[in-house]
Amino acid sequence: MNQNLMEKIVSLCKRRGFIFRSSEIYGGLGSCYDYGPLGVELKNNIKKAWWKKVVQEREDVVGLDSAILLNPKVWEASGHVAGFKDPFYSCPFCKKQFRGDQIYDLIWNGDWWQSLLKDMAGHKTSKDLFNWAKTKGKDLAPNLALVLRPEVTLSWISDIHKTFKQTDLDFRNFIGRIAASADGLAAIPCPLCGEALSEPTSANLMLSTSIGPVQATAQKTYLRPETAQGIFVNFNNVLQSSRTKIPFGIAQIGKSFRNEITPGNFIFRTREFEQMELEFFVHPQEAKKWHQYWLKERLDWYVKLGIKKENLRLREHKKNELAHYAQACSDVEYKFPFNWSELEGIANRGDFDLKQHGKFSGENLFSRDENGKKFIPYVIEPSAGVDRPLLAFFIDAYEEIGGGRTTTTESNKETEVVLHLHKDLAPIKIAILPLAKKEKLTKLARDISREIKRYWTAQYDEVGSIGRRYRRQDEIGTLYCLTIDFESLEDKKVTIRDRDTMKQKRVAIAELTGYLKEKLE
Ligand code: ATP
Repeated sequence: MNQNLMEKIVSLCKRRGFIFRSSEIYGGLGSCYDYGPLGVELKNNIKKAWWKKVVQEREDVVGLDSAILLNPKVWEASGHVAGFKDPFYSCPFCKKQFRGDQIYDLIWNGDWWQSLLKDMAGHKTSKDLFNWAKTKGKDLAPNLALVLRPEVTLSWISDIHKTFKQTDLDFRNFIGRIAASADGLAAIPCPLCGEALSEPTSANLMLSTSIGPVQATAQKTYLRPETAQGIFVNFNNVLQSSRTKIPFGIAQIGKSFRNEITPGNFIFRTREFEQMELEFFVHPQEAKKWHQYWLKERLDWYVKLGIKKENLRLREHKKNELAHYAQACSDVEYKFPFNWSELEGIANRGDFDLKQHGKFSGENLFSRDENGKKFIPYVIEPSAGVDRPLLAFFIDAYEEIGGGRTTTTESNKETEVVLHLHKDLAPIKIAILPLAKKEKLTKLARDISREIKRYWTAQYDEVGSIGRRYRRQDEIGTLYCLTIDFESLEDKKVTIRDRDTMKQKRVAIAELTGYLKEKLE
């Protein structure tokens, strides 16, 4: 069902103009996407909602729009040149590449492993496993440590599992360890085909480019892999020009680029994406308190914009998972059809960034407390994507209703899709639908449409039966459909239909904007 759901969503996104493959007429470009007429509205609405909550409504946050291209020294100071690398494995057989930190998850969730485990189920004693390795295992998984050298592997397992007994074996854990190249016993099998993966290598995830048209004198730099560094290097500029005092934050929305090893799951992981980042500068003694504050604040934002609570969680990073600069970090995760996965990371970055940029640039990047004492502020960083939350909002709003919601005739009871997007996010707020394509009606409808469009995004649609037009609007999440019928010419009223309740109401044309303002603002 889940993969199926993703396929339906990808197809709806293309069919209705939310998201297309980038440069599709040339066969596309690996994991790059374009946002179509509805997608750009939805994306803009997400960014607007974030900016409103994080910047506009607060007194302690200001905005910034820094350049994508920065002096390459920025990336040395930030640690990205030396450290923004992911070890990755390649499969010599199917040519796929896998990130080191994801390999075991991929193995466990991969079809190849699941079918292997099924085959092994029942062979739980060491003798059974030995026999399996010598026979069936040879065909199915020739590179598994257990198959290559069963005696060594089994005795190694029994050594590390002091309580190794036939009965209390944690089978998954046990097999997981055999799969690993423990003590160099065997290579890690490919999660997709089971072939031995080659030794891991690492590559820098930054996309590089050069500035200056003449190759010989061009300066190498990078497309930013996060917007955050543009904020840190402007710390003094903002502090001095906006006369703010700590605690305060600088927020920025913009494109980032990463040469991801395993892009995928539609717009979940791409090489070009957008981020909404806040760097909130605090006194070191208050960092823990502010970290907790932002965790709650950010989780609430997703809930208020309509994501079901049960599909969201905060996951705290374990010590060995933390980035080298981070004191603590928790991710906001969404239950995607493919897995629980990150929408946003909220980290306590300590004073790492300002210290580094201070050191590399020679500038003094610090603040003073009430007694005039200098200190380097700590940074709390809620760092969200735009594309991943967009996918989560979309999936969470998606509902299929069987048996015909808008149609009553037996012959037409097809499954209908309703996109229950929050009112602030819906790309089109209002549809204007003249009941018939008669000039009297269409003229009035177009007049109304013109008025409505002064305030909200709206679509005028006169094509097809009214039921079909309602369905087209439900599918893209339009909040209200206004129908203009022959009676409208007499009583100067229109029918307003609500997307979620399907309740209809007659409202006077003269009062329409006031009525909608109340509903939409
Ligand atoms: P992951 O572990 O999934 O690679 P990350 O921890 O590297 O993510 P951050 O550096 O914390 O991600 O970036 C903050 C946010 O930016 C992420 O939560 C995500 O929403 C977004 N983001 C990061 N990388 C990508 C990408 N390749 N495609 C789309 N969005 C991304």
